[in-house]
Amino acid sequence: MANVLCVLYDDPADMYPPSYARDDIPKIERYPDGQATPTPEAIDFRPGELLGSVSGELGLRKFLEENGHRFVVTSDKDGPDSTFERELPEAEIVISQPFWPAYLTAERIAKAPNLKLAVTAGIGSDHVDLEAAIERRITVTEVTYCNSISVAEHVVMAILALVRNYIPSHQWVLKGGWNIADCVSRSYDLEGMQVGTFAAGRIGLGVLRRLKPFEVGLHYTDRHRLPAEVEEELGVTFHADAESLVSVCDVVTINAPLHPETEHLFDDELIGKMKRGAYLVNTARGKICDRDAIVRALESGQLAGYAGDVWFPQPAPRDHPWRTMPNHGMTPHISGSSLSAQARYAAGVREILECWFDRRPIREEYLVVDRGQLAGVGAHSYSTGDARAGSDEAARFGAV
Ligand code: NDP
Repeated sequence: MANVLCVLYDDPADMYPPSYARDDIPKIERYPDGQATPTPEAIDFRPGELLGSVSGELGLRKFLEENGHRFVVTSDKDGPDSTFERELPEAEIVISQPFWPAYLTAERIAKAPNLKLAVTAGIGSDHVDLEAAIERRITVTEVTYCNSISVAEHVVMAILALVRNYIPSHQWVLKGGWNIADCVSRSYDLEGMQVGTFAAGRIGLGVLRRLKPFEVGLHYTDRHRLPAEVEEELGVTFHADAESLVSVCDVVTINAPLHPETEHLFDDELIGKMKRGAYLVNTARGKICDRDAIVRALESGQLAGYAGDVWFPQPAPRDHPWRTMPNHGMTPHISGSSLSAQARYAAGVREILECWFDRRPIREEYLVVDRGQLAGVGAHSYSTGDARAGSDEAARFGAV
């Protein structure tokens, strides 16, 4: 019998289940690189249901309880009196989503002597102190590719929203106005602009592919170069570093994991090397940007717009300056949690748990840490070290 502790975001304010806008979602069996979507032996939910909130339970309760496990689901994750901290000492498995992360700091890992497996229901395991997990030989997994295309779609939407000044124009309609001049005085065409991605992994490459038909110049930097035939097919220019990339781009999108190499990379200095009036879209992790440098750049006009869905910490305190800075298109962390993505990551978590309980190997591409070292996607895309300093500020969300 295992104690499984799962942290999910709150249910909708109105009701659970919500009334759904559509009756089904497309069935996708393979990702663009050929990797199969999750293949659990069974699922106990209907794809398209809201699974990522507390009552959705990732569709796992029946499976876990029928197999004799104890399953605790909560959204109460921050601070020493939270349900999460109370349950942690008994937990063998912790499941958390990046959208509402249960920060697994070294201190919390020390309070969890039974913890053996940390599952990220999504992609991005930066909420776990990977060094502490390595030391304690805790296996860390994520559901690689489950929502990469969901995010790539959000990036394209955010770029178009900023460049074309969509959000303020929509607001004029809500206000009862017809202020065309106000709307268009910050509105441009994307066509002909230079667009670059910081990192061309699954999301970054998905963004490049989606933007190619827009007749833009494409650019990227990454630790590993794309295959020559992909560079040729997309007509994309490789840059050796972020400085070179940002100096030529009108639009930059950030698509790397948060780890010590990328923490606060977009600071005053790097943003100062961007073209005046460039747009920055960050759906990767809030902490890759220096919070106050972004505000300063929007206020001075160095950046014409900033958008994305990732903040630090999460949930962002009510007085977080990104809520009120000028010319932004921020949302809560939603891009990787569409109903379509939820069906994949819930099935992926089920697949990981089935493997864990049956002592079968977990897919290599889902591994971040295994047997005391970075493994699988973790070995390719992450570095060790701690990028969680300050995460306890998330407890202020309810208080402010
Ligand atoms: P991938 O692992 O496919 O891609 C990450 C890429 O980042 C890799 O190509 C990696 O390089 C590159 N990279 C890592 N460190 C650096 C660095 N220092 N400099 C340049 N490139 C670097 O992951 P995904 O594309 O699927 O996801 C990327 C990130 O997006 C996730 O880690 C997560 O933080 C975030 N995300 C956000 C979501 C949301 O809902 N907003 C949902 C899903 C993901 P290489 O492997 O070549 O070394």
